[in-house]
Amino acid sequence: MPFRYVRVALDYPLSTLYDYRWTLPLRPMPGMLAQVRFGRQQTVGLVIEVSNTTDVPQNRLRDIQSVCIECPPLNENWLQLIAFAADYYQRSRGEVALPALPQVLRNAARWPKLFARERVYQLTVAGRSRLPNALPTRALALRRLAKALLRSDSLGVADIRLIYPKAIAKLEQWQKRGWVHIQWRSTAEAQKINDMPRSSGQSTINILSRLDQYAVPDLNAEQRAAVEAINAARSFVPFVLHGVTGSGKTEVYLHGLAALFDRHPDAQALVMIPEINLTPQFESVFRARFSHWPSTALVTLHSHLADDERARNWLAAHTANARLVIGTRLAVLASLPRLAMIIVDEEHEAAYKQQEGLRYSARDLAVWRAKQLSIPVVLGSATPSLETWWHTCQQRYTRLALSRRAVADAALPKVQLINMALEKQAGHHRADGLSISLVKALRERLVRGEQSLVFLNRRGYAPVLACDACGWVIGCQRCSAYVVLHKPDQRMRCHHCGGESCIPQACPACGNIDLAPFGQGTQRIEEALSKAVLGARVLRMDADSTQHKGSTQALLTEMHAGDVDILVGTQMIAKGHDFQRVTLVGVLNSDTALFSHDFRAGERLFARLMQVSGRAGRRSALSEVLIQTKYAQHPLYLALARHDYIGFAETALAERRDAHLPPFIFQALLRAEAYGLNDALQFLNEAASILDKIPGSECVMHYDPVPMNIVKVMHVHRAQLLLESASRFALQNTLRAWVLQLRKIKRVLRWNVEVDPLDI
Ligand code: ADP
Ligand code: ZN
Ligand code: ZN
Repeated sequence: MPFRYVRVALDYPLSTLYDYRWTLPLRPMPGMLAQVRFGRQQTVGLVIEVSNTTDVPQNRLRDIQSVCIECPPLNENWLQLIAFAADYYQRSRGEVALPALPQVLRNAARWPKLFARERVYQLTVAGRSRLPNALPTRALALRRLAKALLRSDSLGVADIRLIYPKAIAKLEQWQKRGWVHIQWRSTAEAQKINDMPRSSGQSTINILSRLDQYAVPDLNAEQRAAVEAINAARSFVPFVLHGVTGSGKTEVYLHGLAALFDRHPDAQALVMIPEINLTPQFESVFRARFSHWPSTALVTLHSHLADDERARNWLAAHTANARLVIGTRLAVLASLPRLAMIIVDEEHEAAYKQQEGLRYSARDLAVWRAKQLSIPVVLGSATPSLETWWHTCQQRYTRLALSRRAVADAALPKVQLINMALEKQAGHHRADGLSISLVKALRERLVRGEQSLVFLNRRGYAPVLACDACGWVIGCQRCSAYVVLHKPDQRMRCHHCGGESCIPQACPACGNIDLAPFGQGTQRIEEALSKAVLGARVLRMDADSTQHKGSTQALLTEMHAGDVDILVGTQMIAKGHDFQRVTLVGVLNSDTALFSHDFRAGERLFARLMQVSGRAGRRSALSEVLIQTKYAQHPLYLALARHDYIGFAETALAERRDAHLPPFIFQALLRAEAYGLNDALQFLNEAASILDKIPGSECVMHYDPVPMNIVKVMHVHRAQLLLESASRFALQNTLRAWVLQLRKIKRVLRWNVEVDPLDI
């Protein structure tokens, strides 16, 4: 007997599934996308179970309205992934599954267009051999049509009409002669093929032309060993590819993937990258290497894709038409039925952690997926996260080391610490935040025609504007934070709520008109550099200078073309870029992170400085990193100067162990947001007392609720409660029971649970 009911996951917080009656003429299957009514809304849900019984009274049951038959059901592995993530991160399955789908699929009204089919014309073998010679030489339009068909795999009606309006009638004649055949293809696919050369964009072409200069390099011994180890893996093996910056990790990925596709022509692989801005660079490198593939075999998945393109790419992965998916963290939840290898580049990056909604770690889910499917996963980094490194120390993950730069004449830069305290004592103090030594080094680069980077992790002009007379400081009306001076557009801006105001003429407290900017942001350093290094072309790259679509790529193109002498910027300039002429990196104001309340600040600083240092000397043996600091003897900087990640990691792990911090214990946070701080704290206190009564919670310890570091954002106060346990299992069980009870507390306030939080 056919199943009459289905249980559907919907994007709502309740962890239940919702029962619906199945009256459609096809067989229901788990993994189908279904259009349903929920309350007064229309929505799309995911069928999780099919059944012949239901506990819901018949008069309250509703019918499934329609299903997306064109989208093959999501498979069992994917549904398990969703179930795991939902359980682990304390969310409902619907809250995990539906946001993981492209927007177009979640809106049934958009299905017809996505799956509409259109006619496409293709030359037959006979057509290919006869055309265009069989046409009269003077039939120019016909010849154009023939050539267009010869050049492309197939052409849709719209494209053909562009060639000349009556072409379609002509093609019917050609069809009768056996030169052309007509196929039906989903418009999405047809469009995609047409989009290909354009969607890659100008910058990709620039990068590609640079790439042409390099043939596939011969692997060095370390790279070869790494590739062999990866190729030998026939089951779940988590590899940590620990390679210094510029050691050619990408080449290892490429060889590993090429070997995989040789062995399994129908396999799929997922390559994850942390930063959306690196997609064009990565995409072009991979496209160039797999240029013998149809272009549709490689797709990207990230949040800057237009809705339709994202849906098409997602479907290409889901139907296994795409072999290789390159994507940012959201790609970890893509449906990849033939997934056979996962690569996570720069695995330590905090960008792999989703900070809203389902707060998942894409890196961790990638490892889970690899384990589920018994396939290898490669975590690449010059500075692996301490969690990952600790796994290698315990032999749970396999280390693969690349210890030197791959390019023959490149070497790691020499790292020097500029002791700002000494410079000051010696009377060499400059007021603009730049040290004498850095300015001198920058001028030398300018003379030699080499490029420099200046890294400063703070955008704007000055983080504080204060009154000299009374000490009044401009804060944000809505947040517990100072507002930042942005000089180019003459605005004060809050970096927490985005609020803006004009620059005050005088101090509202005492009327003094001498308001002074304190501290340095990238805009101020840009100004200082232009004055200090005369004649240098200075370019700034940060969230402000790259607001407009395409501007990041435009700036990078300028940099790569050599039209810039000094690039100043935030961490945006640190990541992944293969700048070939940079021989000097200056680092400003990094000391604050040494004394942060956040126990991960040191780890992050070390990784960031290694990363930014890694931009120097990628084609040169003589390059330098100059770090301005008041703490030139700090062990973190000393380890950095030795390029000693392993030493740093050992010390940091020992400290973590002594202090009972992750990865030696496991953490979760309950965060509450309310207009009144007391409401948030009260809720957390109540939550804490519930927690204490949960059986098994003895193994989970919690701290007192505390206001968050920046307590108020957009008038909303935020507070948090931290849980810790030495047992992952105990923590998970407790959380599960706790969240069920928290949902019953009736309060007008927002709260969320975050497992394995990165920011505390
Ligand atoms: P990483 O990701 O480890 O920082 P990349 O993969 O960007 O390093 O490689 C740095 C540079 O080294 C690239 O320009 C790459 O083409 C080059 N490269 C990689 N492997 C080799 C090799 N075996 N011989 C010569 N050059 C190489
Ligand atoms: Zn004042
Ligand atoms: Zn604000």
